[in-house]
Amino acid sequence: MSAVPASIAEPHVMTTYGRLPIALSHGRGCRVWDTAGREYLDGLGGIAVNTLGHAHPKFVPALQEQIATLIHCSNYYHVPGQEALAAKLVELSGLTNVFFCSTGLEANEAALKLARKFGHDKGIERPEIIVYEKAFHGRSIATLSATGNPKVQAGFGPLVEGFIRVPMNDLAAVEAAVRDNPNVVAVFLETIQGEGGINAARWDYLKSLRALCDERDLLLMLDEVQCGIGRTGKWFAHQWAGIQPDVMPLAKGLGSGVPIGAVVCGPRAAKIFQPGNHGTTFGGNPLSMRAGIETLRIMEEDGLMENAATVGAHLTAGLRRELEGVAGVTEVRGYGLMIGIELDRPCGEILTRAMDAGLLLSVTADRVVRLVPPLILTAAEADEIVAILCPIIKTFLAA
Ligand SMILES: *Cc1c(COP(=O)(O)O)cnc(C)c1O
Repeated sequence: MSAVPASIAEPHVMTTYGRLPIALSHGRGCRVWDTAGREYLDGLGGIAVNTLGHAHPKFVPALQEQIATLIHCSNYYHVPGQEALAAKLVELSGLTNVFFCSTGLEANEAALKLARKFGHDKGIERPEIIVYEKAFHGRSIATLSATGNPKVQAGFGPLVEGFIRVPMNDLAAVEAAVRDNPNVVAVFLETIQGEGGINAARWDYLKSLRALCDERDLLLMLDEVQCGIGRTGKWFAHQWAGIQPDVMPLAKGLGSGVPIGAVVCGPRAAKIFQPGNHGTTFGGNPLSMRAGIETLRIMEEDGLMENAATVGAHLTAGLRRELEGVAGVTEVRGYGLMIGIELDRPCGEILTRAMDAGLLLSVTADRVVRLVPPLILTAAEADEIVAILCPIIKTFLAA
């Protein structure tokens, strides 16, 4: 990795990130350029955020108009955009009510509060929530406690109590955790784990969890912050399993880059919060609502969810064609445009090598190369990703 140019050194910014030695200046579609003028194909999309890519010609004028009209007021007043976006999310999810916030962790924090109050309303004084190994739910004290990654938690104890951790896709484990424990109020998982390495809950497992939650009167809470909003080829990843959650936190892709979070709830969770129980200054502001409304509108108009399914399948097939049978490649997992290539060893270096070759991506859970590009990705761009990335992976593994 080359040294950080003086022009982008950061003596005053806290060193919370291990940053790459470039700064991006602008983008168009699935391309971005750095301040030195180098061009990159964006296979990361701001970590599953830039649904519409960069500088989308339908999105930009709508946001410009909104900024010139009203950016923020306060939840002291009605915000018509909240009702419009909530109605759309209700239509797409089949759920009933929405709370708006600004980030993924806030959506999850609200979900955790909902679960606890659901318990208290039933007379459970010390509610407990089932969470998962390798889960990632955010970096607030409560959401990092729910997260199943010791690296995220290290140094921040004492953790919030009231979580019981189980492995993914192990029905017996969750049944054992619930059995004889009247304090359990909710099961909380990512439908497809993102930071944990692109690990999907099996559809039959989700159906069994739905049945278990119904039987025991528990909330099924599916964190779709990363896998939701059309990325897998359905509006929400759990729709592949034909089930509905009671609580669904969303964020990342919903605003195409404008900060927004949402908690979409079904009938069992929709009335838990009463006035005064929860709130946020920025949540539901007119700018973020417009970003959400326009993102979903443009996605429908341009068939981007279908595009995520077809181009995602094409990309995954291309990666499999080039990588299957290569020693050191454990698995290529693809769910629409949420793709993980698991290697048999830590591979953080692939991120820099790909960047140097003009491709942005990430490596998560140490050994999983992750692609979560904008949903406007074309088949030709997918082929370009395969052509750049696969030789890099092969060279890396051969070393
Ligand atoms: C990114 C992510 C979060 C946290 O979102 P922030 O906006 O960074 O707070 C929570 N859950 C999942 C599944 C995520 O991928």
